[in-house]
Amino acid sequence: MDKATFETRACGATSAAAPLAPMTIPRRQPGPGDVQIDILFCGVCHSDLHQVRNEWQSAMPTVYPCVPGHEIVGRVAKTGAAVKGVKTGDLAAVGCMVDSCRVCDECKAGTEQYCKTLPTFTYNFEDKHLGGVTYGGYSKSIVVDEAFVLRVPKGMDPAGAAPLLCAGITTYSPLRHWKVGKGMKVGIVGLGGLGHMAVKFASAFGAEVTLFTTSPGKSEDARRLGAHDVVVTRDNEAEMLKRAATYDYILNTVSAKHDLNVFLELLKKDATMTLLGAPQEPAALGVFSLLFKRRRLAGSAIGGIRETQEMLDFCAERGIASDVETIRAAQINEAYARLLRSDVKYRFVIDMATLD
Ligand code: NAP
Ligand code: ZN
Ligand code: ZN
Repeated sequence: MDKATFETRACGATSAAAPLAPMTIPRRQPGPGDVQIDILFCGVCHSDLHQVRNEWQSAMPTVYPCVPGHEIVGRVAKTGAAVKGVKTGDLAAVGCMVDSCRVCDECKAGTEQYCKTLPTFTYNFEDKHLGGVTYGGYSKSIVVDEAFVLRVPKGMDPAGAAPLLCAGITTYSPLRHWKVGKGMKVGIVGLGGLGHMAVKFASAFGAEVTLFTTSPGKSEDARRLGAHDVVVTRDNEAEMLKRAATYDYILNTVSAKHDLNVFLELLKKDATMTLLGAPQEPAALGVFSLLFKRRRLAGSAIGGIRETQEMLDFCAERGIASDVETIRAAQINEAYARLLRSDVKYRFVIDMATLD
């Protein structure tokens, strides 16, 4: 085990109930294939909150201290001798994975997120270099193998680019996989971090987009982001019924337990709804909403490294970025409270210069 380390400042939690607070963590000294990045901005994903609060206890129990963050953009500070793709001073990015087995069929195909032995996630996953668990991007510095470092295209705003590393790729990948494009009527459920990127991508791909939201105050924004139709779902059965069996595809980004059946009813025959949200409690499924029209319910996890770079390049070419609210590190607990109230427009991004 490689034990040469240096210390860096981070922001994390020491228990499921503790507020996040500044702390010092070790990082490995960069090896020949590693890139050391001074982090400028890190997005705040709802997955960070699920993990910090140990809401995924049964599948991925949290090890404390927990330093979340997997929407990382920063400047390359050092590179190992074998690193070819980035150099000191470049803007670089890291997403939800920092390694994988590299030899299984999934890794070879560029779908490392489905690695047969699981990829090494950016936080709360076995750290094969230092022991313990990986620490994420709510931190001043990170060291990552070059194979999992992305290039930030020239001209991209680093704060607006950070959320692309999770919210961006997690919505881009299924929209591409299910071939969303011109002539398709597509529903996006939830307008948070993932949802706002889904609306932007689905409309950029040429689909006719409807946003389904519980927040009446987000309607105008949704149209600005690219939605052609907006439905406020709470107590609005008539509007939902009007749209029954009319959608070719639905991407559901909701972070909390909710009624999936009302959205399945919106799908045409053989059409698919993909779930991205990962709430703690299992969903109740009334099978008839699937049976009668041979509808499909699917899931999707982030995206591979190659596709993440493709998505970043697509965003640069089309002028797409996340709509962010930049916060100081000390505002992170308030930001989590606001996420739980769906009060986010549309991604919090921590300015790491504010972390002491
Ligand atoms: P977020 O910014 O908090 O957005 C979630 C949105 O869901 C809210 O803004 C709200 O939108 C809607 N919502 C919240 N509570 C609701 C409820 N009770 N009923 C109906 N709608 C509700 O979260 P995010 O960062 O986009 O993440 C969304 C989910 O995806 C999380 O569970 C996260 O862990 C998961 N995730 C999965 C992957 C993956 O690879 N599959 C990757 C990243 C994140 P409205 O105000 O418009 O209703
Ligand atoms: Zn995420
Ligand atoms: Zn693999």
